[in-house]
Amino acid sequence: MPTTPQRDCSAPTIVIGAGPHGLATAALLNLSGELTVILERSDRAGASWAQRYDHLRLHTTPSTSNLPGLSMPRQAGPWVSRDDYVRYLEHYVAHHRLDVRVTTPVQRIERSEAGSGAQWLVHTPDGPVAAGAVVVATGRCHTPNVPDWPGRSTFTGTLLHSAHYRSPVHYRGRDVLVVGAGNSGTEIAAGLAGAGAERVRIAVRTPPNILPRSSARWHAAGRLTQALPLSWRDRTSLLTQRLAVPDLTSRGLPRPRTGLYTRHAREGVNPVLDHGFVDAVRSGSVEPVGAVQAFEGPDVVLADGTRLRPDTVIAATGYRSNLHDLVGSLGVLDEAGQPLTVGAQNHPAAPHLYFAGYTNPLTGVLRQAGIEARAIAHALRREKARAPLRIPQLGDRTTDARDKGHAPR
Ligand SMILES: Cc1cc2nc3c(=O)[nH]c(=O)nc-3n(C[C@H](O)[C@H](O)[C@H](O)COP(=O)(O)OP(=O)(O)OC[C@H]3O[C@@H](n4cnc5c(N)ncnc54)[C@H](O)[C@@H]3O)c2cc1C
Repeated sequence: MPTTPQRDCSAPTIVIGAGPHGLATAALLNLSGELTVILERSDRAGASWAQRYDHLRLHTTPSTSNLPGLSMPRQAGPWVSRDDYVRYLEHYVAHHRLDVRVTTPVQRIERSEAGSGAQWLVHTPDGPVAAGAVVVATGRCHTPNVPDWPGRSTFTGTLLHSAHYRSPVHYRGRDVLVVGAGNSGTEIAAGLAGAGAERVRIAVRTPPNILPRSSARWHAAGRLTQALPLSWRDRTSLLTQRLAVPDLTSRGLPRPRTGLYTRHAREGVNPVLDHGFVDAVRSGSVEPVGAVQAFEGPDVVLADGTRLRPDTVIAATGYRSNLHDLVGSLGVLDEAGQPLTVGAQNHPAAPHLYFAGYTNPLTGVLRQAGIEARAIAHALRREKARAPLRIPQLGDRTTDARDKGHAPR
């Protein structure tokens, strides 16, 4: 069996991305005495949250969204707002004294030819940074995904991805079609309807599993029933939905046929936690319509042939992690571009290269940030314990990196 090359522990561990996963991992690495630097492409930590829409609230509870070593303040309430969460992430950086190098986009990672053991070169516009280990935490929701609908470029209205939607105030008096009934799509549609859009429709391909917001504790229930068969878990979840969510079939939104656990296992789709969407559909202020099939000039053509003529289409159609530029040449991605190993696991072809934040568990992605961070910190501690003591030499790659301003302060 091939042995894993030992890590050069005198070189820093580079974490790429200052989102929840990168911050949590760096915090635990710091605590275990690892020299850790975070490289962040934007001008702040928590940038992806700062850029999200202004009425966004966490749909996970604070206790399942806290990162290791720091709880969210009680004043943030049970449904933490976007701004409070951004403040929490900023506070997290200060609390753990994290070394975040902002405006430092990583262009690609390659194996270092020089030096002993397995080392990585992390390429930035200012030059390469040598690393003993690398943690990639650039986010599953990295690049907005807009389907390549036929005729998309002919659309004469405005088409934007939900990542670029900021506030409902810009849509007062407008006719808006939201595409996609996931958490973002349903929340944006309800927000638009409540803030004076003239007409709001939502295009639904597959009826979502909707749970009341208060059942965010289903995260906990999900954990308890993990060992049970999917069909059993689905039946109980469909029963919960029947009891807690009114039937919206007469409003154009039938109950889902597939239970939330099967849907998650097959398609990676999470249930919708209701933040006002159900009431908006019930009152008619949000109108469900069929799936979008094509665009033709001013028209959006639905799968059943219906034509709509909205001013704006907001595509809440998901994201891609877009890791090809970063690590595409290393043989560590599957056909869909997802990492073949995540958390504490290393791909045999890429020792000391970790991926944090590339799963979408039903128990919540933010909760997972702590789990993966602990696992990676543990793995790196084990590697360090195995590594021989090495005294850094003048002019070795760590020192070069410091000269370029990238090594830890
Ligand atoms: C609208 C929305 C709401 C969500 N709400 C919840 C919720 O309530 N609860 C929950 O558990 N999960 C939620 N999620 C899912 C998930 O928790 C978040 O997407 C979370 O931000 C993921 O953290 P991350 O650190 O993996 O990625 P991100 O937060 O996206 O952080 C990645 C960081 O990497 C940086 N970066 C990217 N590429 C590079 C590069 N090449 N070089 C350097 N830096 C780079 C980015 O600028 C960013 O700062 C939500 C997701 C979305 C889209």
